[in-house]
Amino acid sequence: MREGQDIVSDRRGHGSEMDGAIEVLAAYGAQLHPTLWAGATPGGEVTAQAYLTIRDRLLSHLEGIEVDGVILALHGSSTVSAVTDAQGELAEYVRAAVGRDVPIVATLDLHATPSDQLLNQLDAFVAYRTAPHRDVYETGRRAAELLIRIIDSRRRPGLAYARLPLLLPGEMGQTGSEPMAALAHAAATLEKTVPGMGPISLAQGFPWADTESPGASVLVTALDESARESACAVARMLADAYWRLRDGFYRSVQVLPVAAALPMAQDRLRSRRLLYLLDSGDNPTAGAPADDTSMLRALTEWNLPAVVGAIADAPAAQTAWQAGTGARLELQVGGQPSRRPEVATTIAGRVAALSTHPEGGRMVRISTGTLEVLVSERRMGMRTPDILADLGVDPRSPDRVIVLKSGYLFPEFADLVQEVQGAESVLLATPGACSLDLRQLPYRRLRRPVFPLDQSAVWDRSVIWRPPLS
Ligand SMILES: [Zn+2]
Repeated sequence: MREGQDIVSDRRGHGSEMDGAIEVLAAYGAQLHPTLWAGATPGGEVTAQAYLTIRDRLLSHLEGIEVDGVILALHGSSTVSAVTDAQGELAEYVRAAVGRDVPIVATLDLHATPSDQLLNQLDAFVAYRTAPHRDVYETGRRAAELLIRIIDSRRRPGLAYARLPLLLPGEMGQTGSEPMAALAHAAATLEKTVPGMGPISLAQGFPWADTESPGASVLVTALDESARESACAVARMLADAYWRLRDGFYRSVQVLPVAAALPMAQDRLRSRRLLYLLDSGDNPTAGAPADDTSMLRALTEWNLPAVVGAIADAPAAQTAWQAGTGARLELQVGGQPSRRPEVATTIAGRVAALSTHPEGGRMVRISTGTLEVLVSERRMGMRTPDILADLGVDPRSPDRVIVLKSGYLFPEFADLVQEVQGAESVLLATPGACSLDLRQLPYRRLRRPVFPLDQSAVWDRSVIWRPPLS
């Protein structure tokens, strides 16, 4: 969490949406009033206490000031214990603090599930256009440009939106593959060519949140009331296409059962081709505990040389750090954040390398001979190949299969796999909190029917018009 001027001065080169917005607004000559930034590795619901602390700190920055506009950078799919719609509520508080006359533009993750309350409180929404997310910074810039436009033109935007009864794991909605590539292209073209259109967002939703409607939606900004009809028509057209393509999304990527991936790994090791296997069911950046060791056990049984990680296990990481590089130890790994000892396993090996990481904390590589097991103190996303390199693992080496706790590869890993000749990455159909097989998940709040759980699901073609706020 960072507050006030620290947000502007300490940007750490992350290229966040805030960075993009700050640069556009500063170049415009705006006087910035930075408030609060908070982020976390996803993992279940945010506690009510954490949410209330963040909300109240944010609101304290808005007390007694007058502003011309607000940029609110949200994810769009956070859920908070005992608060039904925290983001809608937060938007309502921010709106009340600055007043009805001040335009507010929000940025959203592509995997957002914006509620009606959220959509009714803020002027406009700009979601990422890419998955994996390569345009985070650009999204902030687009939001700030829209905010400036609203302030300068004194015209408030309206919003046409449609919700689809469609659950879509991010892996099936990658914007570099069909059919999502074509849909994203259509949205970008309509945004550019239809008069009166502002940003168009194809929010994919977040199927691992057990809310009433964690499905896909289409958000179309009309620059003012006069573009209402076009915006509604565009929203309907895109939502129709979204719905028509629903089976195609699920066919767009191969998700391989572990039993089929192991012989594949054996083959690639023999032919010396780099292979990344993605333990998608236990993907921490979608909220999973990252502490299931079943892949580790399967690789041991098959005696396949592999790098596996990062398994989140604070006691194991701390023990290995205390023992130091070169120490030999027997260690139980896994089952920590989930408190499920049945997913843990015992490994015997040598502490081969230590490192630290801003998200993962203290990290260790334990070498068992066949396996290189990466353990982190805290749950972390396998976001960049540096994480491997810092622990002495060559992310391009075909000597070992690389098994990551990850859904689709983050951009830098995806680029690496593109660059290395013959390299591949394959999603594994592993079980877990973020299983790609949504039928395995014990939904309680989800509104049914919904695709793909219910073949009876239909989109009723309704588009909602949220008029300009004033
Ligand atoms: Zn996302």
